[in-house]
Amino acid sequence: MLPSSQVRWCTIKLKIKPFEEYVGEDHAYHYIAIRADEDRVGYKPLKTTSLRNIEPKYPFKEDGKTKEDVYQILEESGLGMPDYYNWRTRSGCYFCFFQRKSEWVGLLEQHPDLFELAKSYEKFNPETGERFTWCQGESLEELANPERIEQIKERTEKGKASKKKDKPNQRLIEILTDVHDDEDDEEPCLVCHK
Ligand code: SF4
Repeated sequence: MLPSSQVRWCTIKLKIKPFEEYVGEDHAYHYIAIRADEDRVGYKPLKTTSLRNIEPKYPFKEDGKTKEDVYQILEESGLGMPDYYNWRTRSGCYFCFFQRKSEWVGLLEQHPDLFELAKSYEKFNPETGERFTWCQGESLEELANPERIEQIKERTEKGKASKKKDKPNQRLIEILTDVHDDEDDEEPCLVCHK
């Protein structure tokens, strides 16, 4: 079945398990970019052996680096914000079910091949009428309808304009995050996002 916020098997099966199998019994440091101003834990080992060979490291937390500090590091290093933050507010799998509708539209426009791949995982059972889709109540095929795309874009642009008015100095990523948070308040993947 497709992973979802109720049945979130993907993080363990697709990320943590393969990672731990790859590392095996070697001693390894796992660097996790959770900031000092975030209240979450990124990596919880699956292994039950007493040998905890994968050591999580939190350099930002340890150095007290907050979101503003991270922006500063990105700006001063010349790297800047990754381009995908123009249309997406979280990193993660291309098919992540936590994506908001406008992020799916972004995926369609920026990476149509990946959108098609994600679409190919959706299944419909014509006998029972059951639908297995990434977004609740809407398939990616339906979402890719030009009229629907316009509707989604319009709503996001309206949201952005109103947030910009409230906080004119906010960065695009923060405005988009606020807009997306208004659309949907599900908790993101604690290992995968941001
Ligand atoms: S990014 Fe999304 S789809 Fe990928 S493992 Fe995390 S929760 Fe699952």
